[in-house]
Amino acid sequence: LTSDPVLSLEDVSISYGHVSAVTGVTLTLYAGETLALIGPNGAGKSTLLRGITNQTRKSNGKIRFGGRDISSTPPHRLTRAGIIHVPEGRQVVAPLTVRENLQLAARASRRCPRREIEASIDRVYDLFAPLARLRDTPSGLLSGGEQQMVAIGRALMARPVVLLLDEPSMGLAPVMVEVIYEFLGVHRDALGGTAILLAEQSRIALDVADRAAVLSCGQLGFVGPSSDLNESLLTTAYLGTS
Ligand code: ATP
Repeated sequence: LTSDPVLSLEDVSISYGHVSAVTGVTLTLYAGETLALIGPNGAGKSTLLRGITNQTRKSNGKIRFGGRDISSTPPHRLTRAGIIHVPEGRQVVAPLTVRENLQLAARASRRCPRREIEASIDRVYDLFAPLARLRDTPSGLLSGGEQQMVAIGRALMARPVVLLLDEPSMGLAPVMVEVIYEFLGVHRDALGGTAILLAEQSRIALDVADRAAVLSCGQLGFVGPSSDLNESLLTTAYLGTS
């Protein structure tokens, strides 16, 4: 890859008490790329994403964003800098309508100029067509897949430089997974230079990723072009055999 590094992790470790969840992860994310973080249940994917955004304390390591050390920058400041995290489980503000959720995300992040909010909302509707007709529906009434679209839409309203997506396909109907992945497949045109770190258990992420990183028991194994990630490397990560 010839593009610039936007986010780099150097020897990052995270423990819960005496339990080590992430051990010595070194990884670079480049502008405009989608990097799939693949690993089984409990591998440490969510912990790593929370560590990047400082929602979980790191026991070791450094994280740089555009050359700046952000290892101990508080989460809200990282949001304002453009590191946007969509956690597992589709976080929407249930009583608010789709439109209000999108407006709120734009304001809270302070990254979308006020006069551009309406145009940005329209862009989210272009990317996720079902949301256009649901714009005045309280988000809590939507299906899981529709809520995931709102959650990603909220992230887009914050104009991400780095988008951290935690298992967007989890628990969704196949048709909804398709909609989410269709979006991820074309994001480059829609998002410009946004770099995406996409955590998934399922190999579906490989279809839209430029590169893949395999996490197993908190440690990185394979890191490289997703087309080079073969079945036997995946099986090793998932079953712990070689
Ligand atoms: P999943 O696909 O289920 O989300 P994951 O790859 O995201 O899995 P994590 O949720 O990051 O994995 O969990 C990594 C390890 O850390 C697991 O052993 C888990 O039990 C443990 N863990 C996660 N959160 C906590 C916590 N708050 N307190 C203690 N242990 C935790």
